[in-house]
Amino acid sequence: KAKLNGRNNIQCFDASIQRQLSQRSEIENALKHALQQQEFRLFYQPQVDEQGRIFGVEALLRWQKTPDELIPPDLFIPVAEESGLITEIGLWVLKQACQQLVIWQRSSLTQDISISVNVSARQFLRSKFADEVLSVLSETGARADRLKLELTESAVLQDVEASKQKILQLKAAGLTFSLDDFGTGYSSLSYLKQLPVDQVKIDRSFVKDVTEDEGDSAIVQAILAMCNTLAIETIAEGVETQAQLEFLQQHDCCRFQGYLFGRPVPMNELMDRFFKV
Ligand code: C2E
Ligand code: MG
Ligand code: MG
Ligand code: MG
Repeated sequence: KAKLNGRNNIQCFDASIQRQLSQRSEIENALKHALQQQEFRLFYQPQVDEQGRIFGVEALLRWQKTPDELIPPDLFIPVAEESGLITEIGLWVLKQACQQLVIWQRSSLTQDISISVNVSARQFLRSKFADEVLSVLSETGARADRLKLELTESAVLQDVEASKQKILQLKAAGLTFSLDDFGTGYSSLSYLKQLPVDQVKIDRSFVKDVTEDEGDSAIVQAILAMCNTLAIETIAEGVETQAQLEFLQQHDCCRFQGYLFGRPVPMNELMDRFFKV
């Protein structure tokens, strides 16, 4: 009887893995198709200073699968990462953002605005990464000092020394770096000191209850103090309320991103809202 059960379990197990695999390969094929058919789009979310003035945007990827099906990145980035397609998708995102920078460079209203681009671990860890970024910049003519790359702790910590070299190479060309989702990983003072990043992005999970939860409030204050000590710029993500904004301002955070200031929107909407002449 036990044997029979064991067998059944194995069969069940097999079937569910089989199902997952076929779903994965379906998504993978659909992603390849999406790249060829240009179904990817970038949305842009404003980043503002203490005065509420926009100084940058974060480019956020969307998959426009059908005219009324807009798929958020959390649903396909993991598959893109595992299949390796993220390299090609990431390159597309970089090109797109750089082309936008070139358009912005032509107007005095927008020439100082920077674009932050998310880079996945698998993309960043490739040895060709820095060269690829530099070629996109030279091909498009975008100003390197307007391009910020957002890395996660998990990407950087896989090989701190190699990451450091890559970051330094690109910083020498004028790019800047942000550590995304900060606070959710190791977040230690000693490794932050070793990494030549310009900015730390406080994860929105801490901002969410920062005014009610003592733990979150303490974590946010500690991150801000730590970055201050190391002279690293900070930006808070997921700012949705005036109370959160006031707390952050009181603790010397002066850059913000969140629904309070604007959701991610297509470029034409962003232009209408922030750069209407
Ligand atoms: P992220 O880089 O941490 O981006 C911030 C996410 O928080 C975005 O979700 C944004 O829409 C959302 N957000 C911003 N403000 C608020 C707020 O006030 N409240 C709430 N509840 N959410 C807010 P989104 O666009 O769904 O992106 C999710 C994640 O997907 C990103 O997290 C990033 O890790 C990844 N991603 C997005 N675009 C790209 C890309 O081009 N390449 C790579 N590798 N990853 C990307
Ligand atoms: Mg990000
Ligand atoms: Mg983030
Ligand atoms: Mg996040």
